[in-house]
Amino acid sequence: MKYDVIVVGSGITGLSSAYHLKKSDSSLKILVIDKFKTFSQGNTAKSAAAFRDFFSLRENQVMAQASINFYKHLQNDLNIDIGMKFCGYLFLFDKEKDNEFVSKYPNSKIIYDNLSEFFNFNIDNETKKIMNIDSVKTAILDTNAGIIEPDLLSGFYYNELIEMGVEFKFNTEVKRLVLSPLKSLDYPGEPFNWQESMVTYLETGNEKIESDFYVLCTDVWTTKLLDPLGIDSHLRPKKRQIFQITSPGIKSIINKNMFNNSGVFPFTIFPSGVYIRPYPQASSFWTSLADDYNRDFSFTENPEPEPDFYTYNIKPILDNYFPAADSSRITSSWAGYYSYNTIDYMPYIFNSLNIITVSGTTGGGIMKGDSIGRVVASRYKRDKATTLYGGKKIINTYSGKYRSSKIEDMIL
Ligand SMILES: Cc1cc2nc3c(=O)[nH]c(=O)nc-3n(C[C@H](O)[C@H](O)[C@H](O)COP(=O)(O)OP(=O)(O)OC[C@H]3O[C@@H](n4cnc5c(N)ncnc54)[C@H](O)[C@@H]3O)c2cc1C
Repeated sequence: MKYDVIVVGSGITGLSSAYHLKKSDSSLKILVIDKFKTFSQGNTAKSAAAFRDFFSLRENQVMAQASINFYKHLQNDLNIDIGMKFCGYLFLFDKEKDNEFVSKYPNSKIIYDNLSEFFNFNIDNETKKIMNIDSVKTAILDTNAGIIEPDLLSGFYYNELIEMGVEFKFNTEVKRLVLSPLKSLDYPGEPFNWQESMVTYLETGNEKIESDFYVLCTDVWTTKLLDPLGIDSHLRPKKRQIFQITSPGIKSIINKNMFNNSGVFPFTIFPSGVYIRPYPQASSFWTSLADDYNRDFSFTENPEPEPDFYTYNIKPILDNYFPAADSSRITSSWAGYYSYNTIDYMPYIFNSLNIITVSGTTGGGIMKGDSIGRVVASRYKRDKATTLYGGKKIINTYSGKYRSSKIEDMIL
């Protein structure tokens, strides 16, 4: 059995890539392989699954906006429930920000009213000194933002792929991509440097599966597959933890939105980066923090959440800014990884040999998931540009033998 394309990884980026590959050429014979027992059990399942178009880099903005619009189209026009709620993304800054700053962000505005009922705006002097935090000075709301359910979104792509005849192979770990010369001389030690070579098959535990082309959507596991080939994955794993909390105060506000009628409290980021993500199904918030320092880039297969991380890094911030969390308790917690592009937080999508690699989604793979799949499909055809949902285009560049650039910072 030989395939045209094998996609390794069935999280959101693998599903979206397979979907757009098949949509752009229905004759392609595609196989999606995943080591888990079904789709989207990796970091897609561990995500806070929030979306926004508040990004300082225009390319990130455009990729998120196009994906958000596609998801909105699924839910509103095609009546496919993907749990999308436009509850907004509220940024609370302890620094003054002016209208010039906000004007860089297309769907965002400074908010003045209706906040003191929910947040503490007066940090006492002692706390300011000890914790290096200050009272909130500016609140900015991104209205093209909210939450989504990754299992429902993934389910949409998966059902479509099954319908279109794409094959899936679960419970199957790819151990190795095997490089061979295009014209073999049957000498031991091939391929030699002067031979043109490609990945000809991949090895799982007990079989070899052949394909003409490979797409790696393997997130933080990518380095393990690319390192033996001498290809840099350009990603660094960073552990991220989520704690689900509830309290009487949280129960009383979770379905209130002071800005719109979404019926869900806005996703809110406090000064210092601690955030709360509404989880109305359990009258709870998920709270987390994308910490920069004091956590190394080591990787374990099953990362555990650390209660002390909540107690000493997250809770003191909630205690100061968010009275509804008083006397809250943790009802669930888990940990996963961001696959970081540590340079500019853009996803890397690059061609090398007969492989396209998707990596470095940096905490945004769901909100940019549909656009990522479109870039993969267009790079497979070696198009000069990718047309995103809604018509905006991103230039694809292909330079160097092993790696072209990340999505180019040029938008047509
Ligand atoms: C705590 C946390 C919060 C987050 N919050 C958000 C958020 O609010 N919004 C947002 O947009 N993003 C968020 N993210 C990031 C988002 O979850 C990721 O960017 C996204 O899920 C990446 O999708 P993926 O398909 O590339 O990876 P994954 O979902 O991890 O899928 C990779 C798949 O590859 C498979 N695989 C790997 N190696 C092999 C192999 N050798 N053989 C077979 N299969 C293999 C794995 O089994 C897995 O299923 C968050 C992430 C975390 C951890």
